[in-house]
Amino acid sequence: MHFPIRKGVLKRVAGHVKAVDGIDLSIAAGTTLALVGESGSGKTTAGKAILRLIEPTAGEIRFGAVAFSKLRQHELRRHRGDLQIVFQDPFASLNPRMRIVDILGEGMIALGTAETQGERARRVDALLDQVGLPASAKDRYPHEFSGGQRQRIAIARALAVDPKLIVADEPTSALDVSVQAQIVNLLKALQDRLGIAYLFITHNLALVEYLAHEIAVMYLGRIVERGTADAVLGSPKHPYTRALLSAVPSVDSGGASTAIRLEGELPSPVAPPPGCHFHPRCPQASSVCRSAYPGEARLGATHVVSCHLFDGRK
Ligand code: SF4
Repeated sequence: MHFPIRKGVLKRVAGHVKAVDGIDLSIAAGTTLALVGESGSGKTTAGKAILRLIEPTAGEIRFGAVAFSKLRQHELRRHRGDLQIVFQDPFASLNPRMRIVDILGEGMIALGTAETQGERARRVDALLDQVGLPASAKDRYPHEFSGGQRQRIAIARALAVDPKLIVADEPTSALDVSVQAQIVNLLKALQDRLGIAYLFITHNLALVEYLAHEIAVMYLGRIVERGTADAVLGSPKHPYTRALLSAVPSVDSGGASTAIRLEGELPSPVAPPPGCHFHPRCPQASSVCRSAYPGEARLGATHVVSCHLFDGRK
């Protein structure tokens, strides 16, 4: 997913921001892939491009047997219900002038998943129940709910069209810490009951342990480490993953783990550092890191890392 940089009066294309730069991911039905990285790493752009909410510059997206990236707009509509998104900010993502019943019914009407008004009403009650809200919520407006309740409504809206995959884009980061766990628990319970797959986008590794089956760590538009949650959390290899993980207070160690300080800010994707993009912040960088981007080293059946420290294991 590359965005043109335009300059001058004529708005000539002077270069490209490689917001997402050649990523390769797969999510099995009914499982969760957590896409983890700092804000600005390209996670949200990747999520939107996968759903074609923005059109990818190049690449292929497959949904089961469907060549999703090749569908024309009118064909895309037929599959819109299969892939849904829950946004980060439940305050901005719900229309304040619509009652909850209309918010939940909107997608059903658009995609024709509930034909009659009676069918829709029954479905709205069931959806509210599924996300832990009373049926009486349907006659109210978004401003009458707390942040956590609004996120439940946003999840119910996504569920209304029977999705197979939900892209959950930082769904808890606008919420109080006490409420974050409730939303993660709800997503997990819904997955167990309905078999939905999630692309769970987050900067918070503490949240993924309970939910993720697989983890992909993203840095400046590229995946730097991926594997099963057990492999990545239990035996992180990339210095960036290790730094992110070291910042997560561990219950076992009473929160006393030694945090690896990440020096500096995430560089701009407009001009990523040459070689390994992480080298200016990496405590283990060597001269090769400054000149060559590392290839992928396979550490196990599913554990892959892009770092020169592991180059020899390809
Ligand atoms: Fe650090 Fe070099 Fe590995 Fe990049 S390739 S993460 S700079 S050791």
